[in-house]
Amino acid sequence: MTGTPRRRAPPLHVQILIGMVVGVLFGLLFGPRSRWLERDLVRLLATDMAVRAAPSTDAAKVAAAGGTTLFARGPTVERDGQTWLRVTWTLKERQVLKLVAEDVAPSELADGSVPDKWRVGQEVAGFLPDDETILQGVSSVGSRLQAWVSPLGKLFLRLIKMAIVPLIFFSLITGVASMGGDLRRLGRLGVRIVAFFTCTTIAATTIGLTVANIARPGELLSEADRARLERQFDRGARQRSAGAAESKPFAEHLIELVPTNPVRAAADGEMLQIIVFSLLLGVAIATLPAGTREPLAQTFSGLNDAVVKLVDICMRTAPVGVAALMAEAVSSTGLSVLIAMLGYCVVVLAGLLLHVALVYLPALKLLAGRPILPTLRGIREAQLMGFSTSSSSATLPVTMRSLRGLGVSREVTGFVLPLGATINMDGTALYQGVAALFIAQVFGLHLGLPEQVAIVVTATLASVGAAGVPGAGIVTLALVLTSVGVPTAGIALILGVDRLLDMFRTTVNITGDATATLYAHAVEERAAARG
Ligand code: ASP
Repeated sequence: MTGTPRRRAPPLHVQILIGMVVGVLFGLLFGPRSRWLERDLVRLLATDMAVRAAPSTDAAKVAAAGGTTLFARGPTVERDGQTWLRVTWTLKERQVLKLVAEDVAPSELADGSVPDKWRVGQEVAGFLPDDETILQGVSSVGSRLQAWVSPLGKLFLRLIKMAIVPLIFFSLITGVASMGGDLRRLGRLGVRIVAFFTCTTIAATTIGLTVANIARPGELLSEADRARLERQFDRGARQRSAGAAESKPFAEHLIELVPTNPVRAAADGEMLQIIVFSLLLGVAIATLPAGTREPLAQTFSGLNDAVVKLVDICMRTAPVGVAALMAEAVSSTGLSVLIAMLGYCVVVLAGLLLHVALVYLPALKLLAGRPILPTLRGIREAQLMGFSTSSSSATLPVTMRSLRGLGVSREVTGFVLPLGATINMDGTALYQGVAALFIAQVFGLHLGLPEQVAIVVTATLASVGAAGVPGAGIVTLALVLTSVGVPTAGIALILGVDRLLDMFRTTVNITGDATATLYAHAVEERAAARG
């Protein structure tokens, strides 16, 4: 019987790539910042600015409009030699309107209550200076379209993230139980992997510093752009550096590797704690008598296969999910910020590329004994996923799947990858090196060799401390800056392009995790060959 041959769908990575392109185009053409749609709304960029009740400097002000509020654009009025834009918006629940003027004592409204005439849900009007450096035009149609599209991206992320905890848990237990609880073998592997992580991260920061010393991107930023960026992103920068200030002593970090309650560790997604618990449980299972051990090991192995299958199924939705994530990412970086920061972005990207070329590719060839192109092809799904999610943790199930596809055993992927996704972030360390020098250059501070060595040390530690989630690197950057006396307020300068650069550095982080895993696989194979 002959029928029409069914057209085969393109491979998944091609579908994901198509999804990315579609997402970018959609974001550019139909997103909130689209140039084609009417920009009938405005977003306030200067986060410390208040909306005024009247277009005059000494009139009462209506404050606390909130960073995410979108205002409807009204007519402009000229007053006192300045152009003012009349805006209207609906008062949100958490917005408290305060009247700030000389004749209103702050205590009158200090209890945070909404005065009678301002009620939640009420339409409020006010005035903003009509200045495009603090106001961003937004399309209401684009905003609505984005609101429809973005749940698809969130849904896809949740589907993949759902597999993280069971994957680490089952694959590690199965792996260790099948190793026969050979702790020494595990210890040897662990030491090598941590040494690999440390050396490559130090190399990454050094490359970042070298490139930034040669190109000096901080000197390319104009004075006007610097003032504008500081104004727009200042509050975000202060919040982020405050987050990093709550750091704990080192011993505390070590103690906290052991969970007091593994169920809570799993619920909170504490990867290192889950690794420790699973390792120990695996060892315990391995020491049980064969009659008990074998059925248990088989059950965990079966469960692991089921979760791997689950990831396979969820990955079928990747093209759509990735398209939605990209559409959202496109609208988060304004073009004018990108142009002002082009020099800095190019230096970060050049550094990342150099790191891959000078460190990972030789390591793949020489340490892991792998051919370069087929290996890169084997991990491209994970790289694309890292790029579109900006999260090493969320990409973990896909990285595991890719490396299993390259023939790496369950125990090695189960051991190395969760560790890598949590503590090995070369892209992040490299970017922190560039960022620290960039900010120092903008502020006209000279950082000599001792300070740059300090940056290598702190950026290496800060990248270990950064979680594998979007924007984690910029939080721990505050530690690096403080260690060499560069003002953390400088984070405001780089905040506007951070989401974009995060995509690239996460891709490098994933590539580093994959390289380390292939190296671990080679070590294991050599040990097995020696018997
Ligand atoms: N997003 C990065 C990751 O998940 C971390 C960072 O650099 O912000 O690997």
